[in-house]
Amino acid sequence: MKYFQLFSEQPSVEFMNDFLKCYGLNGFDDTLEFSKGDLIEQNTVEKLENMLLEIVMYYLPCKAKIYLNDLNEKRAITVLSQFLKLFNYTLSRKERIVTKKKIIYYKIQKIENIKSFNLKSLSLRSYYHGHILAFGDLLHRIHPLAGQGFNMTIRDVKILLALIVKKHSLGLPLDSSINYEFEKKLRHKNLIFSDGIDLIHEFFNFERKINNSIVSKSIQLLGKNPNINKLFTKIADRGTLIY
Ligand SMILES: Cc1cc2nc3c(=O)[nH]c(=O)nc-3n(C[C@H](O)[C@H](O)[C@H](O)COP(=O)(O)OP(=O)(O)OC[C@H]3O[C@@H](n4cnc5c(N)ncnc54)[C@H](O)[C@@H]3O)c2cc1C
Repeated sequence: MKYFQLFSEQPSVEFMNDFLKCYGLNGFDDTLEFSKGDLIEQNTVEKLENMLLEIVMYYLPCKAKIYLNDLNEKRAITVLSQFLKLFNYTLSRKERIVTKKKIIYYKIQKIENIKSFNLKSLSLRSYYHGHILAFGDLLHRIHPLAGQGFNMTIRDVKILLALIVKKHSLGLPLDSSINYEFEKKLRHKNLIFSDGIDLIHEFFNFERKINNSIVSKSIQLLGKNPNINKLFTKIADRGTLIY
C-alpha cells in the first residue's frame, strides 16, 4: 500500500519520536514554534543524516531520491511535514518580522476531523424581492468544475447596466421594474447554463463510476478542433450563444 503517494509503510511511533527529536520536538503534541534558524542551531540536518538509513526505509525509493538527497533545513521541513501527515498532523507556518527580517515559524498542528459536503448548483426561484435584487452566488451557484461561477455574475452585471442605461436614455424612472426585466431576460439563460454544467459534471461522475476515461478523451479530442474550441470559448465568455 502506498501512503500518500510517498511512503511504502507507516512508520512506528517510536521512530517518529526519535525523528521529532531531531527538530527539538517532544512528540506530536509539542506545540513549540521553530524557524529554519532554530534547526541550524540544533544541527537538525546532521541529526537527520544520522537517522537516514531508517528514514529512507519508509519512503518509496523514487521519492527518497527526491526528498532525502542533499538534505538542508528547507528539505528537513518538507520531510517533517510529509511524515506528520501520515499521523493526521500538519505543519502550520506563520510569518513574523523579527529585527526587520521576515522569519517563518513552524508549529505542529493536529488535523481535526475533515468535514466535506457535496457541491450542488442552486438557483433562486425569484431573483428579487421588491427593490432588492440578488446577485452572485446567492442568485446562482454552480459547480466549480468549469470555473464559470463569477463569470455568470459579471454577465449579470453587464445586463443590469444595459437595462439601466436604456431606461435612463428613455427618461424612464429607475425603479423595481428593472428587477423584473433583469429576471425575465436572464433567468432561463442562467438556468440553461448551470444545468449544462451539471450535465457535464454528471458525465464526469459517470466516467469515474465506470472507471473509464471516454468522456475526458472525447473532450480532449473535440478541443483539438479549432472550430469546436472557438464555440466552447464563446459559450464560456457569453454564457449561452443567444445573449
Ligand atoms: C473551488 C472554486 C473555484 C472557482 N473557480 C472559479 C473560476 O475559475 N472562475 C469563476 O468565474 N468562478 C469561479 N468560482 C466561483 C466564484 O468563486 C464565485 O462565483 C464567486 O466567488 C461568488 O462571489 P460572491 O461575491 O457572490 O460570493 P462569495 O465570494 O462567496 O462572497 C460572499 C462573502 O460573504 C461572506 N458572508 C457570508 N455570510 C455572511 C454573513 N452572514 N455576514 C457577513 N459576511 C458573510 C462570506 O464570508 C464571503 O466572504 C469558483 C468557486 C469555487 C468554490
